Amino acid sequence: MNKFKLLTFITLIGFVSSNAQYNQEFGSTDECYGKTFSLVAWVLTDTANSYDPLTESQILSEIETLNNKFSEICVDFKLCQFKVLPNHRQDKIIKGIHDEEIAALYRKKNVINLYFAKEIENDDPDPGPCGYAPMGSITTPADTNLRDAIFLQKDCFDSDILAHELGHYFGLYNTFETSSFGPESADGSNCSTTGDLVCDTKADPKGSADSECHLSLAKFDDSSGVYFEPPVCNIMSSYNPSCDQFFTRGQMNRMLMIMKTGRSYLW
Ligand SMILES: [Zn+2]
Repeated sequence: MNKFKLLTFITLIGFVSSNAQYNQEFGSTDECYGKTFSLVAWVLTDTANSYDPLTESQILSEIETLNNKFSEICVDFKLCQFKVLPNHRQDKIIKGIHDEEIAALYRKKNVINLYFAKEIENDDPDPGPCGYAPMGSITTPADTNLRDAIFLQKDCFDSDILAHELGHYFGLYNTFETSSFGPESADGSNCSTTGDLVCDTKADPKGSADSECHLSLAKFDDSSGVYFEPPVCNIMSSYNPSCDQFFTRGQMNRMLMIMKTGRSYLW
């Protein structure tokens, strides 16, 4: 083997093994990506302009807290534009009806657009409480108006809600996801192919948590014969406890994979 062939061979092996690492074992890297994503905030106010809009400083302070949640992978978010849209007739957004129209009118390309409304109506089977975002994957989505549009309800907006929707936007499922890949067993034996596909978030039966971050109603998993220990303080769960909410390293790595593939067009 000459020098050139040997080099090509070594490079190829490196590429194959790093891909395998991402595909099979989320949670095994400690990569620091070093990317800043741009956010644009569009704040819709009601027709009478009577409902106080969010202020720019409120949004900036939530983004500051948000950035702490992503600091482990050296990713942060910067507000590059803030726009109040006064007297807007679509202050209530019905998913599938108003969102497309608003995103068509007010949209910056290749950045993440946040639309804030007084009310959001979402008829999905398991809607998020305070907003919704388009799901990310390793495939680059078509450049539609809704590709980079996240809708948020003003009165419950905070850094945890924003982190949750950005989690979906960068390809994370809810920890209690069961409809896409089936339920995860409480012993974690099928963690890479079921639930949220991330192995360091434990199976989540979506119960309720007490203020101490414990699943208050202990649930037994008939399929594995052990009790669930769901990640009640995880950003992608819906327990909403008082504890600090965080992403696991496995979730960080899944988001990194999607930031570098399907969402790599973002500035
Ligand atoms: Zn969710």
